[in-house]
Amino acid sequence: MEENSAAGTSRRRIVLKISGEGFCPAHERGIVMDSVNRLASQIAEVAASGVEMAIVMGGGNILRGAAFKAANSSIQEATAHYMGMLATLINGLALQDAIEALGQPTRLMTTVKADTVAEPYIRRRADHHLEKGRVVIIAGGTGLPFVTTDTAAAQRALELRADILLKATKVDGVYSDDPVKNPEAVFYDHLSYDEVSHQHLKVMDQEAIAKCAEHSMPVMVFNFRTEGNLLRAAQGEHIGTIISDRASAE
Ligand code: UDP
Repeated sequence: MEENSAAGTSRRRIVLKISGEGFCPAHERGIVMDSVNRLASQIAEVAASGVEMAIVMGGGNILRGAAFKAANSSIQEATAHYMGMLATLINGLALQDAIEALGQPTRLMTTVKADTVAEPYIRRRADHHLEKGRVVIIAGGTGLPFVTTDTAAAQRALELRADILLKATKVDGVYSDDPVKNPEAVFYDHLSYDEVSHQHLKVMDQEAIAKCAEHSMPVMVFNFRTEGNLLRAAQGEHIGTIISDRASAE
């Protein structure tokens, strides 16, 4: 297995970003336990394989702060973003129970204070849980409004010294256009951080990509709905699109 040099262990460590869309079938909202259970069993499989895993939980299946931007909204935008952060905590609670029902220990950590339901996110504690083989679920994003959990995922991948940041999506990777709407869309096997930024490819927030680029943190975008993909991705197989310092033509 690959050396996780900075973490000082020989175990592979990943940070996995799961969007809220993983929590319900396409075009639905909220929490559908069949979807959560499917994700949980894939996660438990990865943990059983010995890969250390921290999950940054999204909340878009419940709400996204930006949806309250309308001029007639009496909810301030910052408030809406805090509501979004709480949505990630609701998802985190559901995912925690679903994973633990399979016998895999977890810890739910949050950047938004919620002492009765989750531990506060403390980097060194998260590190310790990972070393003990617990799946760490991180809710609350960065704890700051006006960004999304993509930025939080990049941040945690760096501070927890992950080997790679995995972004689970409903498509096979990064395309030149939306493959659902445009059958001509070109699939990219790999891309450089610069290509993602300059071509405005919708992979992650610009801020998240910039953070990964600055510290050469590789990102892999892959389809979590394909059976077995999460385990393959976690173990270092190249499925989907890899974003790194290397350009697509190299
Ligand atoms: N959010 C935030 N700060 C963060 C992370 C999330 O304000 O650091 C809010 C933001 O409004 C976001 C919502 O929480 O839209 C839900 O997160 P996200 O949109 O990333 O969820 P996903 O699309 O991954 O399901």
